Amino acid sequence: MTAYTVSCRDTGADCPGSFTTESKDELVEHVQLHARKAHGKPDLSREDIEPAIKVATPV
Ligand SMILES: [Zn+2]
Repeated sequence: MTAYTVSCRDTGADCPGSFTTESKDELVEHVQLHARKAHGKPDLSREDIEPAIKVATPV
């Protein structure tokens, strides 16, 4: 199974948050919601988020 992960730190944010989902689309949605609520960034685009997405291999 493939999972995708992103850390706020990888986007340059000073935040310990990180997210892992099974689909990239879902991950982008999670990050957009979190960015809006926690970072006050309501207009983070998919293009902003995708470079920070990594493939995670769950154990
Ligand atoms: Zn964050």
